[in-house]
Amino acid sequence: MSDFQLFIDGQFCEAASGETFSTLDPSTGEPIGTAAKAGAEDAARAIDAARAAFDDGRWSQRRGSDRAKVLAAVAKGLKDRAVELAALETRDAGSTVAKAKGVDVGNTILWFKTMAELAAQIDQPETLPLSVFPTPSANVLRHEPVGVVGAIVPWNFPLQMAAWKISAALAAGCTIVLKSAPETPCTATKLAEILAEAGVPDGVVNIISGSGPGTGEELVTNPGVDKVSFTGSTDVGRQIMAAASPTLKKVTLELGGKNAQVVLDDADLELAIDGAAYGAFFHSGQQCTAGSRLLLPDALHDEFVERLLERLSVIRVGPAADKASTMGPLVSQQQLDTVLGYIELGQKEGATLRAGGQRLTEGGLDAGYFVAPTVFTDVTPDMTIAQEEIFGPVLSVLRYDDEDDAVRIANGTPYGLAAGVWGSPARALRVAERLQAGTVWVNEYNLLNPRYPFGGFKQSGLGREHGWAGLLEYTETKHLHLAADASRASKRWFDMTVPRR
Ligand code: NAP
Ligand code: MG
Repeated sequence: MSDFQLFIDGQFCEAASGETFSTLDPSTGEPIGTAAKAGAEDAARAIDAARAAFDDGRWSQRRGSDRAKVLAAVAKGLKDRAVELAALETRDAGSTVAKAKGVDVGNTILWFKTMAELAAQIDQPETLPLSVFPTPSANVLRHEPVGVVGAIVPWNFPLQMAAWKISAALAAGCTIVLKSAPETPCTATKLAEILAEAGVPDGVVNIISGSGPGTGEELVTNPGVDKVSFTGSTDVGRQIMAAASPTLKKVTLELGGKNAQVVLDDADLELAIDGAAYGAFFHSGQQCTAGSRLLLPDALHDEFVERLLERLSVIRVGPAADKASTMGPLVSQQQLDTVLGYIELGQKEGATLRAGGQRLTEGGLDAGYFVAPTVFTDVTPDMTIAQEEIFGPVLSVLRYDDEDDAVRIANGTPYGLAAGVWGSPARALRVAERLQAGTVWVNEYNLLNPRYPFGGFKQSGLGREHGWAGLLEYTETKHLHLAADASRASKRWFDMTVPRR
């Protein structure tokens, strides 16, 4: 029996094929346990369960306030098991102890709590002002659940990503099949236990782990799925949008980023230097919002870089489970190879390597996938390391000469997920308004709030998650037009059956 089973129609089970795969601790390369490897057949069975659960209304027809109670119970269940979940995320995903507690588990609890509050309001009809055009009528909007959601998540924030999708789907009244990433199946399975204990009815949430062709594809092509919610790479996002098009599924995509942190010459340098390091190196840079491009004005460049390099000495790279580590490993050998490949390419393209640049193996790190915090200067906007998402601890420093130049460079990639501006508030706001990004932090970085929308401009995605905007993506808006006058004589239809008056 596998350690992390599939959860379909309220039951834990093995894959139909009986296949399993092992998941590793990226700090040690050691296996943690085995997970059931769902194939297309399992995905289809999970979709059938979610379809039946949606269609019979066991969740979708409940009042929002009832759904809210269950979501609040999930938050409580998560809190009760916070220590266990954080420890598991540390082992499976290489989350440092602080990240696992504060972000992976802490935010997951916060998201369920907040979605509980929104769930209580989502089914309140919205009454529009009385209209006399084209004829007197009362008009009402209802936000109805879109149906069955197919959700696919990556490995960088496994529990939190699952929570983003599941909490919003449940708040809206949808049912869902979620596929975890093959690198990190563990915490999603635990979440399934908590959902069941909190009273989520069978079939409403189904969680499968698996990998390879067939499993994810089933979720994005099966006609029983109404909406796909995906977080991952831009390349896979494109494939998913194409695969979902024959059945015209609603699609939300949260994809990559090559996010700029713009430092203005009136910035508080103490703040901006630490902020730049945090933005670039949090979770070893394995995050879609990583501030991986640092834009410095010529006048500040040398001093800023020197001081930033000094700050790097504070970062302790080490095993995720060691409380002293402030930066853990990359998630896998594959991600390690990708990141080292970009570092090599940066040097070939003529950027200057000022810090890091290598895998770390000393002090017992040799079996894990550790890379030193890496800083390149003399990066020009056309270089690959200034254009492509690396998803590792690699910061590219670019120079700019004036505000227009900064904005042009910041906006000069196909991405537009997030950005940061460090400077006096009024000037920083002026720059922030010109940046093409879904979230811009001013004198802050990387903070997300379940009440505020999050998503990408340009090729960083489609649609939004979180807040009302995010929740509405899990709904269809129904307009009810209620005629004020139901008499035949009042109708002025533009058709031949209308008697001339
Ligand atoms: P990925 O290839 O985009 O995979 C993300 C998820 O999509 C996984 O669950 C994956 O599982 C699934 N998937 C892959 N191909 C699919 C398809 N054709 N149809 C349906 N599902 C599919 O990401 P990755 O390989 O883990 O990481 C590669 C790069 O993606 C990273 O270096 C980074 O640049 C970016 N990334 C972005 C985010 C983000 O938060 N936006 C997160 C992680 C990674 P299977 O492979 O088993 O199908
Ligand atoms: Mg793992």
